[in-house]
Amino acid sequence: MPELSTQYLNEAIEDSKPFASQGSVNAAIPTFDDTMKDLLGVTIITKDFEIYSAGDYKQNVPMQSTSKIIGLMLALQDFGKDRVFQTVGMEPMGDFFNSISSLESPDTNKPFNPMINAGAISVASLIKGQSVDKRFERYLTFLKDITENDDLEMDESVYQSEIANGARNRSLAYFMQSTGTLVTDVEEALDLYFRMNSIMMCCNDFARVGLFLARGGIDPDGNKLIPDHHLRTVKAIMLTSGMYNASGHFAVEVGFPCKSGVSGSVIGSVPGKMGIGVVGPAIDSKGNSTAGGALIKKLSKDLELNMFGIE
Ligand code: GLN
Repeated sequence: MPELSTQYLNEAIEDSKPFASQGSVNAAIPTFDDTMKDLLGVTIITKDFEIYSAGDYKQNVPMQSTSKIIGLMLALQDFGKDRVFQTVGMEPMGDFFNSISSLESPDTNKPFNPMINAGAISVASLIKGQSVDKRFERYLTFLKDITENDDLEMDESVYQSEIANGARNRSLAYFMQSTGTLVTDVEEALDLYFRMNSIMMCCNDFARVGLFLARGGIDPDGNKLIPDHHLRTVKAIMLTSGMYNASGHFAVEVGFPCKSGVSGSVIGSVPGKMGIGVVGPAIDSKGNSTAGGALIKKLSKDLELNMFGIE
């Protein structure tokens, strides 16, 4: 087994980079252009806070769907598991992440899980606070505590683009209102969701989130921010649904909880061991980074990180 080192990560990046040609960059993200297609960066932070980085690890990208796991943690804190899962399901979904047809289930009309857009919008509708500003402030403070990065902020141009390109998400939210699934102010839930998607982070920040989940919800200052039973819920849902309709594939080939976003970001959390942050903006049709996915599979195999056993 190779030793985890900067040199090893440099080699792993070189091996995985060619997979970028199989994807394309999300045109709706205003901070992106085609020159970013071949970028690939990674940071790994171990349970003892050793940090290893390689490639384009300093690149900031919007959180996009990786923001969904933070929203879920806050909603679990605010309402507990039973109440949250009255609003959203916990089952994987075979459709694309922004599917609307799946909301027409005659049983419950609930979104399948919190890792898809409809589910994350319902989760956002639960997060407590007197206004969207206050709710977003809570979100950002929690994220700053987890990442130990006080400079995190939303990018205004990304936020405006989320609003301008938000027809599908608005449809999902109003559909849920029509079935009685989303009962709070729809525009406020959407606004919070759009803001969460627009927070800029780099590999180190993504790795910190993975490490936080892997190390029992303890922030870098040693404060326990979230109880174990909520962490267990979040990690189980990441494993079954975090990579959208490729989650089964990643569970088999990677074997630890991951969450991706259409910015090509991936958060990996290896329980008890490490957090992994990857940025590779070229994504496939399911919304997962092509080079980032290849890289995370390679890391799992080479470093023997699969929770279900090694090859
Ligand atoms: N902003 C994107 C959306 O709401 C995020 C989705 C994603 O990362 N899969 O559709």
